[in-house]
Amino acid sequence: GALEGQVALITGGGSGLGRALVERFIAEGARVGVLERSAEKVAQLAADFPQQVVAVTGDVRSMADNDTAVGETVARFGRLDCFIGNAAVWDHGASLLDIPSERLPDAFDELFAINVKGYLLGAKAAAPALVKSEGSLIFTLSNSAFYPGGGGPLYTASKHAAVGLVRQLAYELAPKVRVNAVAPSGMASDLRGPQALGQQDTRIMDSRSPDAIRAILPLQFFPEPKDFTGPYVLLAARGDNRTLSGVMINADCGLGIRGIRHVAGGLNL
Ligand code: NAD
Repeated sequence: GALEGQVALITGGGSGLGRALVERFIAEGARVGVLERSAEKVAQLAADFPQQVVAVTGDVRSMADNDTAVGETVARFGRLDCFIGNAAVWDHGASLLDIPSERLPDAFDELFAINVKGYLLGAKAAAPALVKSEGSLIFTLSNSAFYPGGGGPLYTASKHAAVGLVRQLAYELAPKVRVNAVAPSGMASDLRGPQALGQQDTRIMDSRSPDAIRAILPLQFFPEPKDFTGPYVLLAARGDNRTLSGVMINADCGLGIRGIRHVAGGLNL
């Protein structure tokens, strides 16, 4: 595999894209640490991959939990080559006008704490080990890192903020550590929303359908989480990417080339 002997730490590795990344990285020869807030998902990982995964129950908003996850991963597997900031919550498209004033401040604080502060604290915890291994950082972005309308203002602004982290940390950590990102489009996962908006038990597919997602994408298919894992392997591997830092791969099924008259120009091909 492309990641033979490598060690990665993935936040939110318990379901959806993070879980697909755990499986793909193991298949490529890596061993994997996970920081995940759901104890059930952590237990499932431990049961499925007793040898290859060390999964820690904790919250990405906590510096101590990030430090513990890095510490346990290095203690178990001896090194850290790649940190993937991935845990996040969505806002189900809650708009400025629709979010009640009394909930807006707490909703911002909660969503930004997970989606932005979580990436920052994870990078802080992982950076010394990554400098040592001359490894890399990868953040999961979204189409909402570049375009409006894939979420509400809270989610869209949080993913734009993560773009700033990619650029600044790529600058600060060069030349030792490469910092890159992958920006997926919609997929079926366990993605939920902030408690402050009452969305903690609402999943993305409760408010979006496979057909609706397929229809807006120029490539006209409904991607599965595993369909997004290839770019992460490319960015994490030690070959073929010596020139890549500060790069954000749009894995968005062509959203950036959506047409005005038709979603895709070749629908009749
Ligand atoms: P998911 O909910 O299946 O996976 C995220 C995981 O993070 C969950 O297991 C959850 O328990 C965990 N998590 C949430 N908050 C946490 C916290 N505070 N501390 C620790 N763990 C926490 O959702 P997903 O869709 O796989 O999301 C993964 C990434 O993909 C996110 O960054 C998301 O923004 C991004 N993304 C998703 C979509 C989509 O359509 N699903 C589209 C674009 C981008």
